[in-house]
Amino acid sequence: MTIVQTHLHCPYCGKDFDLELEENMREDDLIEECPLCGSPVDIRLVLGEDDKLLRAEAHRVDGDSDD
Ligand SMILES: [Zn+2]
Repeated sequence: MTIVQTHLHCPYCGKDFDLELEENMREDDLIEECPLCGSPVDIRLVLGEDDKLLRAEAHRVDGDSDD
């Protein structure tokens, strides 16, 4: 099992934190608590062409709009 260290930017407190994920994770509705402010953060995984975990993005769980 390969662990990928991802760098995330909390959408609530605006601070950066690291999160370790398994390289073969496929959860697309992963929720993790921000270690700094304790808010639930929606973690979205970004996969590469070889279907391996490239990175993760942090979004608000309460109605995130991309525009
Ligand atoms: Zn936070």
